[in-house]
Amino acid sequence: MDNCIFCKIISGDIPSATIYEDDEFKVILDRFPSNVGHALILTKKHYANIFEIDEDVAGRLFKLAVKVSKNMKDVLNLEAMNIVQNNGEMAGQTVHHFHLHLIPRYVGDKVSVKWEQLDLTDEQISEVQSKLKMN
Ligand code: AMP
Ligand code: ZN
Repeated sequence: MDNCIFCKIISGDIPSATIYEDDEFKVILDRFPSNVGHALILTKKHYANIFEIDEDVAGRLFKLAVKVSKNMKDVLNLEAMNIVQNNGEMAGQTVHHFHLHLIPRYVGDKVSVKWEQLDLTDEQISEVQSKLKMN
């Protein structure tokens, strides 16, 4: 993908602070982090988002997320951790190349991952449940 900044990072055309790399993934520090240690797991192959990514690749990516998170927990003095993954502009995705955010949380930090809760009725929940139920 010619115009994709993460493809350029993967090819080495744009520098990055890499903390892990294998055949399929590159883990870099976010250049404009929400917190110290904010990392991104990038697939080496270009998938725009969750709707395009190969399921097996996604499975291996999440296994790697567990490893990287455990290492962060050992090394950084973190209190908690958010895993965030945006798909589509409306959801806040700005780089349309699949990536998982690993955000360490520290006491008193300014990170916010929050939404307002809807007050749905049981009927409304059932309606959505019947639409979404998978076999
Ligand atoms: P998203 O908004 O989920 O698409 O996240 C894109 C992330 O990429 C943001 O958190 C940016 O700070 C980060 N980012 C943008 N350019 C770079 C870069 N050159 N190196 C590392 N991270 C970057
Ligand atoms: Zn790309």
